[in-house]
Amino acid sequence: MTTAAEIKYPDFIDGELLSRLAGKGREDPGRVRAAIGRALEKEPLTVEETAGLLAADSEDLLEEIFAAARQLKRDVYGNRIVIFAPLYIGNLCVNDCVYCAFRRTQEATLRRTLSEAELRRQVEALEDAGHKRLILVFGEHPDYPPEFIARTVRATYSVKKGRGAIRRVNINAAPLDHDGYRMVKEAGIGTYQIFQESYHRPTYQAVHPAGTRKADYLYRLHGLTRAWEAGCDDVGIGALFGLCDWKFEVLGLVSHGRFLAERFGCGPHTISFPRLRPAQGFNPEPGRLVSDRDFKKLVAVLRLAVPYTGMILTAREPAAIRRAVMEFGVSQIDAGTRIELAGYTRKGPQELKREQFEIGDTRSLDEIVGELLQTGYIPSFCTACYRLGRTGVQFMEYAVPGFIRNFCTPNALLTLAEYLEDYASEETRRAGWRVLEREAAGLADPRFAGRLDRIRSGKERDLYL
Ligand code: SAM
Ligand code: SF4
Repeated sequence: MTTAAEIKYPDFIDGELLSRLAGKGREDPGRVRAAIGRALEKEPLTVEETAGLLAADSEDLLEEIFAAARQLKRDVYGNRIVIFAPLYIGNLCVNDCVYCAFRRTQEATLRRTLSEAELRRQVEALEDAGHKRLILVFGEHPDYPPEFIARTVRATYSVKKGRGAIRRVNINAAPLDHDGYRMVKEAGIGTYQIFQESYHRPTYQAVHPAGTRKADYLYRLHGLTRAWEAGCDDVGIGALFGLCDWKFEVLGLVSHGRFLAERFGCGPHTISFPRLRPAQGFNPEPGRLVSDRDFKKLVAVLRLAVPYTGMILTAREPAAIRRAVMEFGVSQIDAGTRIELAGYTRKGPQELKREQFEIGDTRSLDEIVGELLQTGYIPSFCTACYRLGRTGVQFMEYAVPGFIRNFCTPNALLTLAEYLEDYASEETRRAGWRVLEREAAGLADPRFAGRLDRIRSGKERDLYL
């Protein structure tokens, strides 16, 4: 008999259907082009349509998919890339996820939780580099209840160094209950991110040993359903690619997005698609890893399938891959990333025993901003929508008719101007102002120029539309 909990929190992943769709080998150009057409109308795609795109394999059809993804990204997001940094708060963990160096049975990992003073120093270092947006990352442990997460969020917002301030704090932590979400929401969080890791249930059970909290697949699958019910309308989903067939995971992500959209009238704010990295005591199985060619396709297909969902590409990927896939639809990247505990004040190379996994892109924020500018992107530190309440369904109302560019481009430029004035190297500063002046010339909103002048003259900060 179906229980009330199963009715309220059903398993919306149809494993059999997704396996069948993911396994469909033959490409069908008619189906691919029909799906591209719908995606360019900015219609979210069904799992069947997404599977049709995933089956494309000839170079010509792949090129059509890439071109459409590029166009959709430009139409919906313009050429800006939002920048953030992860800040690891504590790596104590009661779980035993086989792929993660923080798993409880990994004895070589140095365990640590930032004290308030250490947190302050990390945030100051991030502000000194020019960051405005952070994601705080936690292991799952009784020492990290929602009260602790909320306190850490408040402490992070309270740190102000020079002209620096953190204006948006996102969270990546274990799924909470309703009261827990209410508590962290109260502290002013942005996105609450939970990765399902694998939507393929047998794989999920195999990598999250029975008897651990994380072994409860459905509790995690509905982690963000509860978040939404508790008032957190800004949520991020993700899958860890390399645990099982990557096409299955793409279809799992699309199913998850559609479930949230159907239930709450609005899909997830972001999707993450990390590829497995080596970690202390763990080396990914080569046969399961997503090749660079498939990764490019995965990013482009996701872009087409969920037109209004931000896509996050992290520093797990090396710089060359980040460069190559960014144009297909990525809207957020981290930069200047250190993922070992207290890493932002440590000099020297990252050390595996101190971090969750090995990262691929170790460049500084200034280097990445410089490269983005050179390659035609506008680096953005913008936090305006969230602070003006443009999230959840509200955000969709702005996003859908294409308004996003009218807000996002000018706001991106205003935050870029702040970065250039306050933190950039001389070379980045010069390159940045050239881009800024060119981009500003095309803006219609009469309020923009005045705000830009006020920033440039050094009088004010934190101005937005
Ligand atoms: N402990 C919480 C949890 O598991 O949801 C919070 C975050 S965990 C520190 C952040 C994410 O890192 C995980 O959800 C997982 O997808 C990813 N991760 C873990 N090990 C990884 C690895 N070896 N390579 C790449 N990503 C990894
Ligand atoms: Fe703990 Fe998260 Fe690592 Fe799993 S992925 S061991 S829950 S920190």
